[in-house]
Amino acid sequence: MKLRLATPGPTEVPQRLLLAGAREIIHHRSSEMEALIHEINEGLPPLFGTTHPVYTIATSGTGAMEAAVANCFSPGDEVLVVSNGYFGERFQAICRSYGLTVHVVESEWGTSTDPRQVADAYARHPGIRGVLAVYSETSTGALNDVEAIGRIFRDTDVIVVVDAISGLLVHPLPMDEWGLDVVLAASHKGFMLPPGLAFIALSDKAWTAVDAASGPSYYWSFERLRHFYPMSSSSPAVSLLLGLYESLKVLAEEGLPAFRERHAALGLAAERGLTELGFTTFVQAPHRRSHVITSALAPEGIDTSQLLKTLSTEHGLTMTGGQAHLKGKLIRVGHVGAADALDLCAVFGALEMSLLGLGHRFTPGTGVGAVIRTFHEEVK
Ligand SMILES: *Cc1c(COP(=O)(O)O)cnc(C)c1O
Repeated sequence: MKLRLATPGPTEVPQRLLLAGAREIIHHRSSEMEALIHEINEGLPPLFGTTHPVYTIATSGTGAMEAAVANCFSPGDEVLVVSNGYFGERFQAICRSYGLTVHVVESEWGTSTDPRQVADAYARHPGIRGVLAVYSETSTGALNDVEAIGRIFRDTDVIVVVDAISGLLVHPLPMDEWGLDVVLAASHKGFMLPPGLAFIALSDKAWTAVDAASGPSYYWSFERLRHFYPMSSSSPAVSLLLGLYESLKVLAEEGLPAFRERHAALGLAAERGLTELGFTTFVQAPHRRSHVITSALAPEGIDTSQLLKTLSTEHGLTMTGGQAHLKGKLIRVGHVGAADALDLCAVFGALEMSLLGLGHRFTPGTGVGAVIRTFHEEVK
């Protein structure tokens, strides 16, 4: 059976990138590797909209979140976490485990946080050292207005840390222009690589916070990253870096504007297809929807756990459901990275066949038809 991933990460890895990482290992101190790392270090900052270096470390996305907390703050520091989903909760948990005093701006899952709530919380807690927010909240598909959040703290000493692990590339994130201080990303979302690399960009203000912070850190130490840059202090994930070099080429060939248009079309097509099949999209206007995934509540009588199981056992398609309290209620159609119109047709084909098998009544082809019409009408 052909295996397909319609997950928000890891994503499908195009063959060209798989092969790039499949060659023999080159030594990380060789001149070939030095040249490759040089290209990577040149290629990453424009994608973050920064003139500062972007550091690449070997870890999953969560490792980068933890590294940011470990390096930017000291135990006892007050921080504000913007939380409207599972990854916002993860930021809270990491901050607490580092002994920070955590204030939370909580909004309902499936909504985008209103930046005015963040400004109000700052007024109540003027002693905070940092604000941590998720750009594209992958557990729900909501996009947060980190530009407006950045604006609130622009002329203050408070640093803004953004988990852009799924949102980078798919949505604009000009870090310098928006006044964001720490921006995190990872290899297995928009970069369409296997999991294992994370990226960290830091503003000058972030470095001031790092210099002032007193928490312990060694492998995660940003000081060490800076000291050894452009190379790394320990063995890098060579195979993944070979893939990353190729990924940057693939991204440059498509161009970010076309990459974003493709994701916007995938999001729109998935939304229409799901609606046609009787699902209710989870993120409703005026809240902003991420183009990384499209999440939706199942029609009456459809058990999403059963649906996801059928998709994987009968069609080889892995899709994810809701996390935490949304388990069993939500499906999340992932379409980040290399996904195209035909991939989405396959996803909806499998969805329709599975729904028919589960006894859901609809005219076969309505979901796939919505995908086809969207790409025919919207994409020129
Ligand atoms: C994927 C993701 C992460 C990190 O998850 P890992 O499994 O540790 O790579 C964090 N935040 C968001 C928003 C994500 O989409």
